[in-house]
Amino acid sequence: MTPYRREEPVSPQQIIAAGLCIGCGACVSRTADGDAAMTWDSYGQLKPTGSLAWLHECAVGFSKTCPFSPSAANEDELAASRFPDAKNRDPRIGLFESAYVGHAAEADFRAAGSSGGMVTWLAAELLRRGLVDGVAHVLPAEGEQRRFFQYQISRSVEAVRGGAKSRYYPVELSSVLRQIRSTPGRYAIVGIPCFIKAIHLACGEEPLLRERIAFTLGLYCGHMKSARFVESFAWQMGADMEAVDGVEYRLKDPGRPANWYRARLTLKDGTHREQDWWHLVDGDWGSGFFQNSACDFCDDVIAETADISFGDAWVEPWSSDGRGTNVVVVRSAVLHDLLRESINDGRLDLRPVDSDFVVRTQEAGFRQRREGLAFRLRRFPPSLEPRKRVRPGGHSLPARRVFIYVMRREISVWSHRVFAAARWLRAPALYTRWARATLTLYRGLAYSAGWIGWCIDRLDFNRGASR
Ligand SMILES: Cc1cc2nc3c(=O)[nH]c(=O)nc-3n(C[C@H](O)[C@H](O)[C@H](O)COP(=O)(O)OP(=O)(O)OC[C@H]3O[C@@H](n4cnc5c(N)ncnc54)[C@H](O)[C@@H]3O)c2cc1C
Ligand code: SF4
Repeated sequence: MTPYRREEPVSPQQIIAAGLCIGCGACVSRTADGDAAMTWDSYGQLKPTGSLAWLHECAVGFSKTCPFSPSAANEDELAASRFPDAKNRDPRIGLFESAYVGHAAEADFRAAGSSGGMVTWLAAELLRRGLVDGVAHVLPAEGEQRRFFQYQISRSVEAVRGGAKSRYYPVELSSVLRQIRSTPGRYAIVGIPCFIKAIHLACGEEPLLRERIAFTLGLYCGHMKSARFVESFAWQMGADMEAVDGVEYRLKDPGRPANWYRARLTLKDGTHREQDWWHLVDGDWGSGFFQNSACDFCDDVIAETADISFGDAWVEPWSSDGRGTNVVVVRSAVLHDLLRESINDGRLDLRPVDSDFVVRTQEAGFRQRREGLAFRLRRFPPSLEPRKRVRPGGHSLPARRVFIYVMRREISVWSHRVFAAARWLRAPALYTRWARATLTLYRGLAYSAGWIGWCIDRLDFNRGASR
């Protein structure tokens, strides 16, 4: 909660014990291969493991490079050193050159992407122009039984295109950072805000990484899910988890609104199971099922330290356009020139927007990580004081909003535990019944849905509090 950097170094174990480990793997990448590793915990989240000495060592290097370390630079400091000449500044989205709404117009990048296909288009363009030799991003895992997705380095346009689509699944950077250190070249990395922060913190300590990582492409972020999210899909779609071969979180259907997410599991026998997120007991993003605990103490919604960042344009008319639309914030002057040239050539269909527009597309995310964060810092401070740009507060929040924030937090904590118990007992109904009841209560509270919503509205405290 302090705006100042902590003097004393911290250890990986302190970060983990405080619930602040997001599982990015940056710390493990700094160790000799074999000394530490990223492994699954009992909740289906990736966490660092290693010798007791390594886990408990309060090393300066670790303290300066863990994205949740109170001894590390924050997003404002990183952005100020990276973009000193930025033309614009907004307290919510940081420093930037320009912002746009639109999509990739060239080929079928838009149809193949989760939103407007801009991330894959730009990654491919960087390779085509020879500005990078490889792109580190997230693809279906190869030859690895225990995970569906992992970071890999793509070195061709075809390989980059094969990685399109959002993966709401734990991934980590340790192997690609090691590859970047060992293999000369220039690289782009795609990542969520805390991962991009970890990369720039590492670049601050290691000139070799600074020289090789030429561009960072950030994704806006709501929160990180655990691997149990997919298992829950399988339970609810009547599929045996052992038989699941692949998962697509967001099937694209131009005939339906973009924000009507539909998931698909592909089974090893080639058949599919599909369901709309809305009909899944844990498919309401805002309710926080399977959320990583560190996300409760995050204040970067749109990857403020990345050279460019991309999200979904969650405002009308774009959220109803099933073809998918990006909202883009560009900070690097080189990338801004590249975008402008490509707009003029008709390869991109982008139009300028202001920072208010960007924030409106992520209204719920900003509320959760400004007003909600202030409340959580006061009400649920972690054992290790995090360094945030938001101060503890929320004393005067309406009762209904307080209940929403508390309930969201309890859902993320208890979804891990109840699912673990149901898994251990081989009793999926234990979890699905609990989750359905919890979701009904949450929807009544947050959206005035059903008879619970009707009752809460009659109590008349802050009726219709938005998410
Ligand atoms: C965990 C998570 C939470 C998100 N939350 C929000 C949100 O709250 N609001 C919002 O507007 N947008 C959010 N996004 C971003 C959004 O889902 C799209 O990724 C973004 O709009 C880019 O779409 P696109 O069509 O341009 O990308 P595409 O062309 O589909 O390319 C996506 C690229 O991202 C890479 N990628 C996929 N998953 C991951 C991952 N987990 N980590 C790193 N790289 C990955 C892929 O390999 C690919 O290169 C989130 C993304 C993730 C992964
Ligand atoms: S919400 Fe913040 S901490 Fe959580 S995954 Fe997204 S960027 Fe990382």
